[in-house]
Amino acid sequence: MLALQGATELHARALEQLGVAAPEVRTPTDLSGVDALVLPGGESTTISKLLVANGLVEPLAERLAAGMPALGTCAGMILLATTILDGRADQRSFGAIDVDVRRNAFGRQVDSFEADLAVLGIDGPPVHAVFIRAPVVERAGSGVEVLAAIDGRPVLCRQGAVVVASFHPELGADLRIHELFLSTVESTTPKG
Ligand code: GLN
Repeated sequence: MLALQGATELHARALEQLGVAAPEVRTPTDLSGVDALVLPGGESTTISKLLVANGLVEPLAERLAAGMPALGTCAGMILLATTILDGRADQRSFGAIDVDVRRNAFGRQVDSFEADLAVLGIDGPPVHAVFIRAPVVERAGSGVEVLAAIDGRPVLCRQGAVVVASFHPELGADLRIHELFLSTVESTTPKG
């Protein structure tokens, strides 16, 4: 759990409910102790600055390039993208998933909204999703699976062991997005 800024606690709680420990990652040493990472919502420009300040940019880039599974939600999605549209010039992203995302893409007047999403691979009732100044995927590469979209705009994507969501799956009691991430991790991690 990347714990520099943002919505960390509820993510950790959701993962703990699913039987997975989610220790806080703030330093390169913390990072070397985890097998996978959640990059939470918050403010991607602030998280980007704190990654630099904490010496995490290089180690995190290396781990992601080596295939570490990651779940990025909202600001975390922006950090994992290939290209950030409407970002700040000094804002970092890691290119861990081949998508271009636009920050605050649903318009300034629509700061937040909720929607029921049909998600590929998740049965049962739709996933109730909370969007807060949310980014949207404007381009998804050919290797990217679009798992959910709103009006044709992707809001949940997966490539290999990297899952990104425009919304905040840690809000509310629905654990299915975290479950989807954990099953993605399981199916992409070689058994040793
Ligand atoms: N708009 C924020 C950003 O650009 C993301 C919002 C969020 O994570 N809820 O970083």
